[in-house]
Amino acid sequence: MSEDENPKWRKKKAATLAYKNGHSLYLIITNRCSNTCIFCPKFNQYKLYGQDLLLEKEPSFEEVMAAVAVVEPTGIDEIVFCGFGESLLRLELVVRIAQELKRRYSYPIRINTDGQANLVHDRDIVPELAGLVDTISVSLNASDPATYIKLCDTPFGDKGFFGVCDFIRLAKQQIPNVIASVVDYPGVDLDACRALVLSLGVSFRVR
Ligand code: SF4
Repeated sequence: MSEDENPKWRKKKAATLAYKNGHSLYLIITNRCSNTCIFCPKFNQYKLYGQDLLLEKEPSFEEVMAAVAVVEPTGIDEIVFCGFGESLLRLELVVRIAQELKRRYSYPIRINTDGQANLVHDRDIVPELAGLVDTISVSLNASDPATYIKLCDTPFGDKGFFGVCDFIRLAKQQIPNVIASVVDYPGVDLDACRALVLSLGVSFRVR
């Protein structure tokens, strides 16, 4: 019996791609990121809440949907693209999976993101998520470009911070619920971040 045919192995493999925590079902479709955040736990180990989040390889559409079926998406409130990786680097896959999840299950869908997708793809990608994604939680982490560069090591320089702010503004126009989150970390001015987030017109969260 090959590893893929072995039910125990299939379950272990699926558990990295899709796992439940509380009332959410989390999907991990990549370990790649556009940022290299200094506070990110993944640089110590790919584990969170005891969950192994290191992918053997980037999964296909079929592998993600099979993993969702193995986990059995019942008793949940939402499905979240998350994990140690930036899902929107695989935009086409996110859209395809979100379409299929809506068709099969109709749960609300959230994407946790670093908010740099428009810079990465060099276009406004928000319309591609509109109607599919119910919540976008953007990791903002700073109230100015210098702090953002220091904490998140964006490859886009000053444009990185302003690009995230623009992404939040654009998302607010088309996505029902937009959250900007900030990590509670030395050097982060939470009050200034809160003021910026409120000026962008979205919800503020400290994590
Ligand atoms: S974007 Fe998220 S997963 Fe990627 S390095 Fe930053 S904190 Fe870690």
